Amino acid sequence: MREEVEVLIIGAGISGLAIAYSLQKRGVKDILILDESYIGAGSTGRCATGIRASFTSKEHVVLMKHSIDLWKKYAAGELGRAGLYYDQSGYVWVATRDESAEFFEKLAKLHNSLGVNTKIIGIDELKELVPPMKVDGVAGAMFDPTAGKSYPFDTIFAFLKLVKGRGAEVVTRVKVTKILTSSGKVTGVEVKGGKIIKAPTVVVAAGSGSRELLGSVGAKLPIENIPRHALITEPYKEAFKPLVIDWDTPGVPYIVQSKEGGFFMGRDVEEKPELPLTSQRIDFMPKAVKPLTKFFPWLRNIRVLRYWVGYYVTTPDHHPVYGPVKEVEGLYIAAGYSGHGYMMGPITGELLAEWILNGKPHIPEAERLTLNRFEKGALIKELAVVG
Ligand SMILES: Cc1cc2nc3c(=O)[nH]c(=O)nc-3n(C[C@H](O)[C@H](O)[C@H](O)COP(=O)(O)OP(=O)(O)OC[C@H]3O[C@@H](n4cnc5c(N)ncnc54)[C@H](O)[C@@H]3O)c2cc1C
Repeated sequence: MREEVEVLIIGAGISGLAIAYSLQKRGVKDILILDESYIGAGSTGRCATGIRASFTSKEHVVLMKHSIDLWKKYAAGELGRAGLYYDQSGYVWVATRDESAEFFEKLAKLHNSLGVNTKIIGIDELKELVPPMKVDGVAGAMFDPTAGKSYPFDTIFAFLKLVKGRGAEVVTRVKVTKILTSSGKVTGVEVKGGKIIKAPTVVVAAGSGSRELLGSVGAKLPIENIPRHALITEPYKEAFKPLVIDWDTPGVPYIVQSKEGGFFMGRDVEEKPELPLTSQRIDFMPKAVKPLTKFFPWLRNIRVLRYWVGYYVTTPDHHPVYGPVKEVEGLYIAAGYSGHGYMMGPITGELLAEWILNGKPHIPEAERLTLNRFEKGALIKELAVVG
């Protein structure tokens, strides 16, 4: 392992790998990525594959729109040839209350004003998009045709192959214990066992480990690591393409079919932050599946193959924390996606590379997401947190 490096990235999830990829495209060669566990062990390997621009905040809509453009570009290029896959099969939002149907109308207007062509759909179109759906009780539906799905392990192994091929060193099973500084500047990190690695630029892309790492330089990162659960069934023949969101059931259950045919399902069940990932819940399966049986009665007969727990690394305003940590020159953060960091991966890479190399990102909305918004009380609201 290198002992001195130009850029050191902590975390080999989608954020860390996408940042390395974007830095390399801009000519940075000397990059070391450290991960305390295996590739994909964090939230990335536990996510539900969803990618969308249909959010309620301008910041999210704008950033996700850029990210989706990159997903498409990446899938069509060298990352696609290395295994990254993006299927733009849309999201269907289903309301059973009239007020929610009205809310969808406002939301679609916001999306359209920002260049995302979300639209309100009638029952016939809903049945066309999701043929095996029972539509009794549906008060309204919205379709986001720009949304889609992509598979986390395909994606991160594609990034890994390319960043390693271009000379980045990626070392697993090495825990960073401390970020080191001198006279207000970052100088490197200390890893478990006491070894020091020198670096003038350090990026914390460490998911649920990010708060502790920033704490080692006295910076406060207001995130909570909240356990979230998901399951996948055995494969079945293709039933429908879009991800379907049951907006009016508390905990917002969702269902999407993978390219292999398994149905992913998830729902937010009340959880205490910071519980370990061994906190499996036997009651999760009925909680996630049962509400969806009102639309898909045949779900009563499906066979669940796997169930798992991961963290939504969550900020008070459900937006990520991006960019420089102002207390320490050369230190950057990309964490706190509150359940949306997989879809943001490509744009995260671009934004952080721009911050590091040019001092600012090219998308103004990203500048509102720096750590100091919490100090300033400049929080942004996001209402459309799913699962
Ligand atoms: C059930 C579930 C469903 C989800 N569904 C979606 C979805 O559909 N769409 C979406 O966009 N997002 C989804 N998410 C959220 C998404 O998974 C995350 O936001 C995203 O993967 C974050 O990626 P990351 O690279 O920032 O962090 P991670 O993938 O968590 O990677 C961080 C890495 O840092 C390493 N690390 C931590 N501390 C240290 C340390 N001290 N030293 C060295 N290494 C360290 C970890 O081992 C880990 O590998 C979901 C999450 C869950 C749990």
